[in-house]
Amino acid sequence: MVPPHTNEGQATAGRYHARRGVVIPIGVIVAVAIICVVVAVLGSAQRADEMAIATERQLFTRALNNHGERMLREVDAVANSEPAYRKIRLDFDAKWVQAYVGQRLQSFFDHHFVFVADPTDRLRYATLGNSRSDPSWFNSVRNDLNAALDHLRGRGSGAARSALAGTEQSAEPARSQRITRLQTFLGRPAILVAVAIASSDDVTQDSPEKAPIVMSVKIINGDTLAEIASHLQLHNLRQVGVEPITPGDYAFKLADPQGKQVANFAWTPKRPGAEIVNSVIPFIAVAFAGFALLAALVLRHMRRTAATIASGESRLRHLALHDPLCGLPNRIFFGERLETVIADVHKGGPPAALLYIDLDHFKDVNDTLGHPIGDDLIRAVTQRLTHTVRENDLVARIGGDEFAVITAGGCEHSALLNIANRLIAAICAPYTISNQSIVIGASIGIAVINEKITGTPDIMRHADMALYRAKNEGRNRACIYDTAMDSDLLQRKLLENDLRQAIDRNELQVAYQPIVNNSGETVVGVEALCRWTHPVRGEIPPSEFIPIAENSALIIDLGEWVLRRACTDGNAWPGITMAVNVSPLQFRRADFVDVVERILAETGFDPARLELEVTESTLIGNVDTAELAMFRLKALGVRLALDDFGTGYSSLLYLRRFPFDKLKVDRSFVHSIERAADAAAIVHAVVSLGRGLGMKVTAEGVETAEQHLFLRAAGVHAMQGFRFGRPCPAADISARLDVPGSFKIKDDADLAMAG
Ligand code: C2E
Ligand code: MG
Ligand code: MG
Repeated sequence: MVPPHTNEGQATAGRYHARRGVVIPIGVIVAVAIICVVVAVLGSAQRADEMAIATERQLFTRALNNHGERMLREVDAVANSEPAYRKIRLDFDAKWVQAYVGQRLQSFFDHHFVFVADPTDRLRYATLGNSRSDPSWFNSVRNDLNAALDHLRGRGSGAARSALAGTEQSAEPARSQRITRLQTFLGRPAILVAVAIASSDDVTQDSPEKAPIVMSVKIINGDTLAEIASHLQLHNLRQVGVEPITPGDYAFKLADPQGKQVANFAWTPKRPGAEIVNSVIPFIAVAFAGFALLAALVLRHMRRTAATIASGESRLRHLALHDPLCGLPNRIFFGERLETVIADVHKGGPPAALLYIDLDHFKDVNDTLGHPIGDDLIRAVTQRLTHTVRENDLVARIGGDEFAVITAGGCEHSALLNIANRLIAAICAPYTISNQSIVIGASIGIAVINEKITGTPDIMRHADMALYRAKNEGRNRACIYDTAMDSDLLQRKLLENDLRQAIDRNELQVAYQPIVNNSGETVVGVEALCRWTHPVRGEIPPSEFIPIAENSALIIDLGEWVLRRACTDGNAWPGITMAVNVSPLQFRRADFVDVVERILAETGFDPARLELEVTESTLIGNVDTAELAMFRLKALGVRLALDDFGTGYSSLLYLRRFPFDKLKVDRSFVHSIERAADAAAIVHAVVSLGRGLGMKVTAEGVETAEQHLFLRAAGVHAMQGFRFGRPCPAADISARLDVPGSFKIKDDADLAMAG
């Protein structure tokens, strides 16, 4: 048998895509978050570095300025005194200048050069180190001093008047004018301080243009830089030339107020950014590892969830497509496969066939032996079916007692009938379930799937029609669909509609057939037989319209109508029995006894004269409810007859169990009496059986004098047949009963002519 076809591959691909669809965005978000954190950390580290460098640069510049201001205060302390005014400005005293200005500035305050210029800017005094120098030396450094002199004398441009880098003139302008400059001196960076000698008394009269000027120079050398470096904690502070500096060091260009380059300095700046990075990196690493771990956990969880969902999906799909009881593919699966097979045949594939199997009497087993045994039976049938079909065939359970087989290849009618007969033989072999021996039957409708089939409904309709035919032809057989069945079905449908109308419009009639005593002389009862004269087709026999009514549940209304009619008509014939046929469908209705009771009440018909005829099929699988209904009917006074005995199961069990008053021997036996010895023997046996069980026995279909004679001799109580009167309108019965002896038994020759 073919395993279920599933879209497992597609489902896996779908799950893979779904997983990618979740994992990629999560990965991107995590990556972006990590990049943002790294960029933010590096950015703030860089900013911290830049800020640190800016601060160091500022501090370095301020340290130089502080040096300048200190020098100014030192020169001021020396040059702005009353003695200095006298000894330098009023009456220049070279010795005094040497002792109190030059030497003091150099030895006390470590200034490197001291100069005094007269109001004409001529050098009056100059020192180099601790020794007095030839004033003519002044001329060699004249250029380096000009800017300061010009400034104090008020010469030159406005720009020249601005002083130290970043500072304007120093404090205390009241006593004299002064300037501090960062500049080159003798090609080296230096701080130059120049102070005009003024009187403390009359500042206003002492304009700096007329004052001598004291100038002091301090070279920014290694000592100066070492002092600043230790103070500011600038590592590796030094003066550098134009050559490239060590990578990682910071180069600072010092310029004078005119923007002229003074010197280049370099130091190794503090890098707080690196510290930030170093301190943050472990946390980032931990966060990163955390993210990675989280992502791995999420992925693992998703993979597990996906696996669980996948197995759940395939379980669900299996459940959705299989019958839970027997595990066979169900109607949905079967429908899908059928569509595929039809599509394949349309594409030029080999023809296939559908075998539609209906179990006979399964419902009876369910009802009589219980559902657990019914379930076991279905499982046993399943096993037999799957073992009987070919390997590539599909077996499905498509309803309670309906199975279907799709078989491919070998679609000749003989081959298909072969398969079907094998299946029927397999199903019909007795089962032993819970110590119960069970026999069921099967009918099979076969439809060939060829290129003319338009779709699933089409092929199902064909198979259904063939199945109907198989059942109609006596069950336990298989029929192959042919196009004639289409018109059959159409006819049946049309007839069904017409019958419904006929019932609604009260167009049915009832004929009554006399039932006579064994001498044939006295009418002891009549059997009500439904008649339908179709407006177009004329008389339609009950053998045609009763099955249609039974298949469409019209039989309920029809049966009720016949019963009412019979009781009404029967009121006119006191003393005789009214036999009415009851279909199994009618009898099984829970309200059947109530309906009978109501009609009896409505019509006022004597229940003791009513005889309901049921067949064995009414009882099969319905034992308990049938028994109950029968006892209730008996309690009403109604009598019961077992109709057509000998054609069905002829079960002695039923005969013993159910309270039948009468047994009606089927006419097929009566007909065979003269021809087949065994039929005569059977009739004998049945009559004795009925009598033995205390029942009256009626023979049906008595046509000839021989049959009459035989049956009478056999001990039959009553007879019914054309010999004693055909089914006829109520009026004819009335006439016959009114005038006893008016009916003459015809001999066989007359009968043959009349038939
Ligand atoms: P049945 O209940 O066995 O009725 C007896 C049938 O045998 C009648 O056929 C009757 O016309 C026929 N018959 C009687 N004597 C002879 C004879 O000597 N020779 C031959 N060849 N036939 C004879 P009918 O009326 O065609 O009914 C056929 C069956 O249809 C009935 O068989 C009964 O099962 C069913 N039927 C008829 N009317 C009703 C009804 O109102 N309700 C139900 N449920 N079934 C009905
Ligand atoms: Mg009958
Ligand atoms: Mg009968």
